[in-house]
Amino acid sequence: MMRVLIVDDVPDNVRILSRIVVNEGHQVSAATSGQSALRLIESCEPDLILLDVVMPEMDGYQVCTTLKAHPQFRDIPVIFITGLNDVDEEVHGLELGAVDYIIKPFKEVIVRMRVRTHLELKRQHDILNQLSHFDGLTGIPNRRAFDERLVQEWKRACRTNDSLAAVMIDIDYFKQYNDAYGHLVGDDCLQRVAKALAKQMQRGSDFIARYGGEEFVCLLSGIDHSGLATFAEQLRLSVAVLQIPHCTSSAAFYVTVSIGAVLCQPSINTSAIDLIAHTDSQLFMAKDGGRNRVNLATIKSC
Ligand code: GH3
Ligand code: MG
Ligand code: MG
Repeated sequence: MMRVLIVDDVPDNVRILSRIVVNEGHQVSAATSGQSALRLIESCEPDLILLDVVMPEMDGYQVCTTLKAHPQFRDIPVIFITGLNDVDEEVHGLELGAVDYIIKPFKEVIVRMRVRTHLELKRQHDILNQLSHFDGLTGIPNRRAFDERLVQEWKRACRTNDSLAAVMIDIDYFKQYNDAYGHLVGDDCLQRVAKALAKQMQRGSDFIARYGGEEFVCLLSGIDHSGLATFAEQLRLSVAVLQIPHCTSSAAFYVTVSIGAVLCQPSINTSAIDLIAHTDSQLFMAKDGGRNRVNLATIKSC
């Protein structure tokens, strides 16, 4: 079952379109104005929007333009369903990024078939998105997702003057762990560690990814030095309390992590790559200093 948002200022149209969608086995949300559609979108997260063009105040073109400018909503397919039967209008609607354009009075069977097609495409898009941005073993975002997020967060922090912090987490003596317990148990350990770390992401903007192998990375915005120190220590503890036995570690009798953290103030003259390089150095120092510890630095011009 998928979710479809129907937007039309004429309640009769909403009713007919809803029936078509519900008969296909999907869930419907409805709005009778552009403004209320935009308000609804965040909570109902539709997979497809059937959008009327001519509505008082905010028309369908404006709604579509607003959505396409918004990273979170850009990928929701929009089908215009409109009485504007004119080639230029249709071209305009498609140029705004709509996937389809259906002219009223519509044939129900045509709406049904096109809804089916676009929901199937959306389903495939979601699967590809999931596969390309999430790590198969641990279920958390992967390196590709992190790279994209870093660019976004960096730009955002430059605009808003917020601080940005990166945290690198690396399991101690994990090669020995695999050697002692086998790779399948190693995989299980990685899953448990990832879950424990991910649980510490408590603010909406906190982000964690599997950076590669037995390394994880977090991005935090708008945090200060002491907040970051507490957060990093909390991450270290969250793994230690799992008490996963590790008989060949020189750091402890159980699985531990070393952590490097760096706080910086992004600016257009500096680069996100430097933040990661500095974080990596802090992680190296944590390893060098005996492992199972946090090393933290604040960098003025990163
Ligand atoms: P250090 O304390 O210095 O971090 O030592 P380490 O042994 O953890 O680091 P090293 O980089 O030498 O080894 C990392 C190990 O992580 C080697 C590799 O086999 C293991 N590893 C990486 N990805 C996976 C995975 O997906 N599953 C399992 N089981 N092991 C993995
Ligand atoms: Mg490593
Ligand atoms: Mg390691």
